[in-house]
Amino acid sequence: MMRLLLIGNQNSGKTTLFNRITGGRRHVGNFPGVTVDLGVGAVKNYKDVEIVDLPGIYSLTPYSNEETVTLQALAQKPDCIVNIVDATTLSRNLYLTMQLLETQIPMIIALNMMDEVRQNGTVIDVDALSELLGTTVVPISAAKNQGVDELCEKAVRLARTPNRNRFKDLCSGPLHTVLHSVAHLIENNAKQLGLPPKYCAIKLIENDADMIAKLNLGVNQTEIVQHFVEEIEQKLGTDRESAIVDLRYDNIAEICAAVIKKEGQNVNRLRADKIDRILTHRIWAIPIFLGVMGLIFYLTFGLIGKYLSDGFSYLIDLAANGLDDLFVRLEVSEWLRSLVVNGLFAGVGSVLSFLPTIVVLFFFLSVIEDTGYMARVAFVMDNLMRKIGLSGRSIVPLLIGFGCSVPAYLATRTLSSERDRKLTIFMVPFMSCSAKIPIYAVFTMAFFPKYRALIMLFLYVFGILLQIVYALILQKTAFKGQSVPFVMELPAYRFPSAKSVLLNMWDKAKDFLVRAFTIILLASVVVWFLRSFTPTFHFTQNSEDSILAAVAKLIAPVFVPLGFGDWRAATSVIVGITAKEAVVSTLAVLMGVTQAELGGVLSALFSPVQAMSFLVFCSLYMPCVAAFATARKELGSTRVAVAAMALQTLIAYLAAALIYGLGLLFTL
Ligand code: GDP
Ligand code: MG
Repeated sequence: MMRLLLIGNQNSGKTTLFNRITGGRRHVGNFPGVTVDLGVGAVKNYKDVEIVDLPGIYSLTPYSNEETVTLQALAQKPDCIVNIVDATTLSRNLYLTMQLLETQIPMIIALNMMDEVRQNGTVIDVDALSELLGTTVVPISAAKNQGVDELCEKAVRLARTPNRNRFKDLCSGPLHTVLHSVAHLIENNAKQLGLPPKYCAIKLIENDADMIAKLNLGVNQTEIVQHFVEEIEQKLGTDRESAIVDLRYDNIAEICAAVIKKEGQNVNRLRADKIDRILTHRIWAIPIFLGVMGLIFYLTFGLIGKYLSDGFSYLIDLAANGLDDLFVRLEVSEWLRSLVVNGLFAGVGSVLSFLPTIVVLFFFLSVIEDTGYMARVAFVMDNLMRKIGLSGRSIVPLLIGFGCSVPAYLATRTLSSERDRKLTIFMVPFMSCSAKIPIYAVFTMAFFPKYRALIMLFLYVFGILLQIVYALILQKTAFKGQSVPFVMELPAYRFPSAKSVLLNMWDKAKDFLVRAFTIILLASVVVWFLRSFTPTFHFTQNSEDSILAAVAKLIAPVFVPLGFGDWRAATSVIVGITAKEAVVSTLAVLMGVTQAELGGVLSALFSPVQAMSFLVFCSLYMPCVAAFATARKELGSTRVAVAAMALQTLIAYLAAALIYGLGLLFTL
């Protein structure tokens, strides 16, 4: 199998090109850092060639995760590099190209976004660029599928006939002689590593610790290298690293001067600057952002998504009732009827009814990501987030957490540093997810009908305040260190592509459906079983006699300090771990009423102060099983995930106890 590596700057169109080349459907987003994992795919029409989509990077210096990942892929000696270069910002993109050329791995350049270049009126002499770099350059537009076939053909041909690059000697001045002398000096050491001597020489002069260790130079050699380094540092008046960096930039300047025949106006950039003056305004940026999010939430949870979800639940109900009638008519045994109707339909159905909401939410989020607005938000929020040890990029997953923790955890993949990513995962449960809205709705209606909005607002804000305190504590303890500085270039504003928005929505819907029919299904059956059978395994309609009641009565005392030691309250909280919607439905089943009548009978279980404590606990305790499974996968450690969930529940417990205590004080 031949292997091509797709390497380029962030947002240069790598994934778009990758999808074209492989016919794949990876997520494309107008947000730097969308691709965080590797994607491997077979090249269309070339069955024995595969291509790897790597995360976007600006240099080969291993500062971040992305760069390390790319370096590892390079170390495995790919057959050919496909370096994708955004032609609208040629000079900046060429920096990475220079470093890639140094590795002397066969390389072809895909000069992308040529459609925009032409539109801007810029003229680039592609042949001259190819001549100066000593590599094949193919002008393409990945988005418009222009030049992609030619690129594939040439890349595969290059991969099959190695050593076709001429490897131009891209250096001049005093460094030229020094580089060659050092390369000559260490030639044997380099050959033993199987690396080009000149590449090693550059790394040595750059003072790359990794390379120095690997080359294993003798005392003599080290001394001579040191001597050369001092010589150039003196001659050039800069330190050794800058000397190499300057060399690359000098080359780029020369190349750009020679190949850019006419500098057009970057229409996109000019337009972006104008829009950014408003959207990233010092004062208005945050209110505008809150407005946009407010609108999206309103549309998702209040308007479109709600009607869709209501309609969907109606259909599910209809199906459940129909099936129930059928079972009665066929005289199917009572327990089987109960399993299907009260177990499967009630459980999976209540979760499925949220599918439209999730899809609608992701429609809006994909749109604002694709247009380039999300990147501005991250940029604006960076300062605020850094104060609590997070980075601006964390804002995206956290906001998604208001919808559902599962996609929120997945979205942490856009964070480049492992530390930031883990810390963000710890923060997600504080964002009250939409599945908790039924709990808030039922309880505020029953106990605080006059102050519903106020209580809900309190729950959200209280969660965020606790989150800030928690982040500050974690920053000082388990997650020492600083978040990675947020160097992000703001992408151009682009009209969202229908294909990528639809793909994104489908991906989310698929994830959700899979979850509903695996983990939720299983949990529903287990809960149904526990609440439908007595400890001696007799089927019962009276949940008071069930295994669940017997166990819950043992656990219930734990919640006495919070004010809700009743076994039914305790059970609903525990069953809520399968899915937060289940808190309300479990209470309804255990009280023997429908969900609609529940408000009326809750006062038998809770006083208003106890209800408040219950609400606070529910708003904060560990997320559902599906979220836990996702967190475990994203954290890569069961131990850490369990610790996170335990801490989260402890915080909820303490907060609820505090609220209960305060409530008692004030009502006495
Ligand atoms: P990556 O971060 O390098 O993987 O880049 P993506 O493939 O996610 O693309 C970034 C943005 O550039 C998306 O909004 C694409 O639609 C857009 N894009 C990619 N290729 C082209 C192109 O050839 N022309 C234009 N105009 N836009 C492109
Ligand atoms: Mg990508």
